[in-house]
Amino acid sequence: MADKPTLTTSAGAPVPSNENSLTAGTRGPVLMQDYQLLEKLAHQNRERIPERTVHAKGWGLQGTFTVTKDITKYTCAKMFSEVGKETEVLSRWSTVAGEAGAADAERDVRGFSLKFYTEEGNWDMVGNNTPVFFVRDAYKFPDFIHTQKRHPRTNLRSPEAMFDFWAAQPESVHQVTILMSDRGIPKNPMHMNGYGSHTFSMWNAAGERFWVKFHFKTQQGHEFYTNAEAEKLIGKTRESYQEDLYNAVEKGEYPKWTLYIQVMPEEDALKTPYNPFDLTKVWPHGDYPLIEVGVLEMNKNPDNYFQMVENAAFSPSNIVPGISFSPDKMLQARVFSYADAHRYRLGTHYEALPANAAKAAKVNHYHKDGAMRFFTNDFGNPDAYYEPNQYEGPVADAGAQEPPLRIDGDMDRYGNPQEMDDFTQPRALYEMFTDEQKQRLYTNYAQAMGPCSKGVKERWFAVLEKVHPDYAAGVRKACEELDSDVNAVPITSETATDAEEVNTAPDTVKAHAE
Ligand code: NDP
Repeated sequence: MADKPTLTTSAGAPVPSNENSLTAGTRGPVLMQDYQLLEKLAHQNRERIPERTVHAKGWGLQGTFTVTKDITKYTCAKMFSEVGKETEVLSRWSTVAGEAGAADAERDVRGFSLKFYTEEGNWDMVGNNTPVFFVRDAYKFPDFIHTQKRHPRTNLRSPEAMFDFWAAQPESVHQVTILMSDRGIPKNPMHMNGYGSHTFSMWNAAGERFWVKFHFKTQQGHEFYTNAEAEKLIGKTRESYQEDLYNAVEKGEYPKWTLYIQVMPEEDALKTPYNPFDLTKVWPHGDYPLIEVGVLEMNKNPDNYFQMVENAAFSPSNIVPGISFSPDKMLQARVFSYADAHRYRLGTHYEALPANAAKAAKVNHYHKDGAMRFFTNDFGNPDAYYEPNQYEGPVADAGAQEPPLRIDGDMDRYGNPQEMDDFTQPRALYEMFTDEQKQRLYTNYAQAMGPCSKGVKERWFAVLEKVHPDYAAGVRKACEELDSDVNAVPITSETATDAEEVNTAPDTVKAHAE
């Protein structure tokens, strides 16, 4: 056998034993000076970092993005500067609600995050496998997530809370329809699309801005599990996605997605019947067709999951010249909250960790001390630690500034003005489903809503009624059939029994009915 390397302390000194504690005599107690034993146990106690509040369970791969079509008329981002250009990518897919040990094949939205290590710095596309989201205003986000997590008293997930909240936010019906459809349990991340979901912007070398949506379409085809199939699978393995992804890559079966963009000229944003910056809306393909851009191929399992996937910190705030934000209220909030979550979860200088560090660009900033300051940025001169300075320290590049954007309007809290029709787009989706897909949609609802009180069910049926009477009738019938099959007990605290008495739609639902 080849000579093995010497085991050392974390300070680099050789370790005399990794099995036998230092004791006073053969039967004696352990000595305090056996510091490597203390070190080993202390490290074990620190092997976990706070798990993500959302998207805690995830799976990641490394790979490459290759440009196949010229989109330089829309963007000056260098990663899109020529056909054939390749950019290194890190991906992380995830479920939203479950904790880090949750089963993979659960009905949930999936996160679809990509970090492009471009020559101009990292661009993060922090999306989902759905083109829309449950709410359009970040004020509602923490409450929404509370309904997805455990009930404070029962410590169980609460369908009562989920549907109570959704029924009071009819804008959620688009996303809930997708969640309850076949796409609510993709077979694994290889068989689902990724969407940037928000509206972003691109600008070109001439300074023209375009509003843009990103779509990563699976080349493996859409595949899903029914509830029954997923239950059976979870009985066998809770790690089906990790197994599928890891094994596919080890076998050389690299998953691929085609990137398309939808492009809206800047001035169109004032004319569309829907608010193009509303995260609960798509842009119909008929109005804004998909434009092919390139291919994403994920072809490497990270050598160390924790280092590359658990430590990965994706944030929509990471943009590069040629790509930027939009007035989408949810995006504006995520620009702050994702980076802030990483500062809390990983530490001040989380972007210096290998998963997050720019690879193709030189990082030059004046942030100073704090946790994980294990890099130097003295730019060759220790005097250049502030800016402006008389030395050779880095300076801003005005060329990276996006073109000016005219913003108009009175400062106010706009809520749900009339223009926000929350039912036309989910209706288009519902009408696209085949009879079999509709039947599965109804069944999935019935199983999800089984434990809900009658009051909450009625309020949700009232929302579905506005999407399509057949949709409401189908779900109602499936719920009734399930109720007569099993004696469903609401899994909530005592509030669930009270809720049975509440059979009236909340004000927000009434407002939409008028
Ligand atoms: P299209 O017929 O051009 O597109 C329909 C879209 O629906 C396709 O992108 C298809 O994705 C997607 N789709 C099919 N089944 C499901 C499902 N169970 N859950 C989510 N998406 C699904 O029509 P429009 O562009 O006019 O949109 C009609 C409706 O389709 C929208 O109201 C919206 O609900 C939904 N949709 C629209 C998207 C868009 O960006 N325009 C994107 C995704 C959904 P695929 O091609 O991958 O099969």
